Amino acid sequence: MNPLSDRINNLAVSQTLAMAALARELKAQGKDIISLSLGEPDFNTPEFIKKAAKKAIDENYSTYTPVEGYLELKEAICKKFKRDNNLDYKPSQIVVSTGAKQSLYNIAQVMLNEGDEVILPAPYWVSYFEIIKLSGGVPVEVPTSVESDFKITPEQLEAAITPKTKMMWFSSPCNPSGSVYNREELTALAKVLEKHPHVYVVSDEIYEHINFSGTFCSIASIQGMFDRTITVNGVAKAFAMTGWRIGYIGAPEFIAKACTKIQGQVTSGANSIAQRATITAVEADPSVLNEMVSAFKNRRDLVVGLVKEIPGFKLNVPEGAFYVFPDVSYFFGKTLKGQLIKDATDFSMFLLAEANVATVTGDAFGNPNCIRFSYATSEVLLTEAMRRIKEAVS
Ligand code: PMP
Ligand code: GLU
Repeated sequence: MNPLSDRINNLAVSQTLAMAALARELKAQGKDIISLSLGEPDFNTPEFIKKAAKKAIDENYSTYTPVEGYLELKEAICKKFKRDNNLDYKPSQIVVSTGAKQSLYNIAQVMLNEGDEVILPAPYWVSYFEIIKLSGGVPVEVPTSVESDFKITPEQLEAAITPKTKMMWFSSPCNPSGSVYNREELTALAKVLEKHPHVYVVSDEIYEHINFSGTFCSIASIQGMFDRTITVNGVAKAFAMTGWRIGYIGAPEFIAKACTKIQGQVTSGANSIAQRATITAVEADPSVLNEMVSAFKNRRDLVVGLVKEIPGFKLNVPEGAFYVFPDVSYFFGKTLKGQLIKDATDFSMFLLAEANVATVTGDAFGNPNCIRFSYATSEVLLTEAMRRIKEAVS
């Protein structure tokens, strides 16, 4: 008999982390793998943030932190929300967590009852689906395609809402599609939500600064949305701090309180040193990120150009984050190097075996026609990876 709980037995492993682990294992065996699986910047954390962390150690920030985060950090986050997003959160509406992933988990735990529906425009970030399920929620996928730039329409949103709908979760810039919803598009979605006041929104803005579209809009800044939106953000991506584990939310106060309550029983406050360093990060003018963002834009242009040259790949031009999400359904049902490719997972495994390139299957993101490449790696490796893929499929 399996002594583990049904809860864990029914949980899928994170495909992004699983593929990254597999790539690491093959590399350790001496294989020349290029890993485009994991989404994390290949830059170092900026010096001024590291300095703040060292100072925090020297100043003995070594005790338990307030469960919801240091007040100075929450105040700095409020200023950041005002400066970048025109949002007027008060410190009592902010909760700092051990990564945006924990922020999302808290939200699911405090908002969802068994059977509550959560609308997920697909493709969505891999962990949304499992976090929602783990909390008793029912993910309701709304499919999009490369043709619609992977964005949902107001009509699709309207059709997905039922009396059981509790929330909608989405990311913009989107992981995995790179799509960015502009103000007009968000306003049109908000108009639909206006008719359904029982629906809350989780707006995951962790890629806010890795955005080449020239505009960024938080849905909470649209009329009528502030009191029903939970804005999720963090420092992992923009400040190359994935391992520091700091995320945060701005939310209606009762939701913030509930998230603090659960965090108080499960993890306590986030890491003290990382929180002190995060004060410096969120206080910094976003222009300190220009160099990194422009490197990502150059890579985006490079990869999009190279992917377009591979026969059978269809893609949108991602406007943010650091992923491309090509539709590879052309290959389904075909035999490549003696292997029948049934679906995106087969295709992704084929690329790993035959091109030594690690990607993530679109199935993990709710789109079975696509695969995801992370382009958060050097231009030399990206060029070589695309050359290998082109050769393997031709
Ligand atoms: N949301 C999205 C869309 C992400 O890509 C990630 C990546 N890890 C997260 C949330 C979680 O971020 P964190 O590392 O802060 O937990
Ligand atoms: N968000 C990143 C990704 O999608 C990191 C991996 C993870 O946290 O799942 O690859």
